[in-house]
Amino acid sequence: MIRPAHVSPDGTRWSRWWETVREDYTLAVLTLGGVVAVAWLAPFAVYRAVTGNWLAAANDTILSLVLGWAAWHAWRTGNTRWPGWVMALAIVAGIWAIGVAAQFAALFWAYPGVLMMFFLVPAPAAALLGIAAVLGAAGLSWRELGGTGGLPFFVITNVLTGVFGYVVSQQAQARIARWQTLSFVDPLTGVGNRRLMSVELAQACARPGSAGTLAVLDLDHFKSINDRHGHDAGDAVLRDFAMAVQSALRKTDRLYRVGGEEFVVWLPQGDRAAAAAVLERVRSVVRGQVRVAGEAVTFSAGVSAHVAGEPWEVCIARADQALYRAKRAGRDRVLWPTVDEGLPARV
Ligand code: GH3
Ligand code: MG
Ligand code: MG
Repeated sequence: MIRPAHVSPDGTRWSRWWETVREDYTLAVLTLGGVVAVAWLAPFAVYRAVTGNWLAAANDTILSLVLGWAAWHAWRTGNTRWPGWVMALAIVAGIWAIGVAAQFAALFWAYPGVLMMFFLVPAPAAALLGIAAVLGAAGLSWRELGGTGGLPFFVITNVLTGVFGYVVSQQAQARIARWQTLSFVDPLTGVGNRRLMSVELAQACARPGSAGTLAVLDLDHFKSINDRHGHDAGDAVLRDFAMAVQSALRKTDRLYRVGGEEFVVWLPQGDRAAAAAVLERVRSVVRGQVRVAGEAVTFSAGVSAHVAGEPWEVCIARADQALYRAKRAGRDRVLWPTVDEGLPARV
């Protein structure tokens, strides 16, 4: 998911961390697991070792290392998928291990374990892992549970905990999806907006050795399309244009609407020849598919290769200059920067 911290980089480091955790519940649970690992399990491992309970000491040490790694990895990479799975599996293994080493304590750990699952992995997997944790805890602490007498209560209260986790996590997921659509998708064309572009380009250009190509596309004489055919026809052209461009791009290429009739294409892979070929395909698909009252709609574009290490704003400024030259030169063309416009060395 896209970190809102990148969108609003204001505030102190703590307030940005807090904001990030608040917006990403998997990261929040992973962080909680990391804090439990460092503040609770690690000292416990030492205590177990001092008191000679080596099995419990080993268990607590492994668990604290795994949980600590999952939290650290999620913060470092921004990716919570694998750490989520690792933590969910570690919770099941931990509850079983507690059942073996300390018996009845496993019964208490089952509840937070079952609840956390739903915030770490997809719901079906969370349900299965929750069942594994509950059955393991019940089986290993059978006597303390009171056998078949206590089992129904243990199972029902855990099911309630799981259902609560399911409902809350699903609601949070739906809200996040809605919030992402509202924040990052252009409602008219369905492609990413300027905000998404700035987040994604900042990430792509910060990658070491990034070798992408950026193009700024602007529809030709669009004001006249509006004036002659009406605003609704103009809107339809914008939608058709976005669809046509997207159909001509490769899977990894990105399209954003950054202004009224201005779009940005980011081609993350390939050299200048490959980028030129893609943009030529875009030009011919648009020419063939986007029409208003039978008239072909054209666009002009400025293209620039991203120079590793430079901010994306520098690259886009170069492409913009080439775009203005394309407009002055008569429109309906794709131009690259000249030496004057800061033609990048590596193309
Ligand atoms: P050029 O070839 O030099 O780019 O000329 P142009 O007419 O395309 O450029 P100009 O910037 O003069 O006009 C852009 C027009 O795009 C003006 C504005 O009314 C229109 N526009 C901006 N956003 C939308 C929109 O969402 N829908 C519609 N229908 N028109 C829009
Ligand atoms: Mg225009
Ligand atoms: Mg324009």
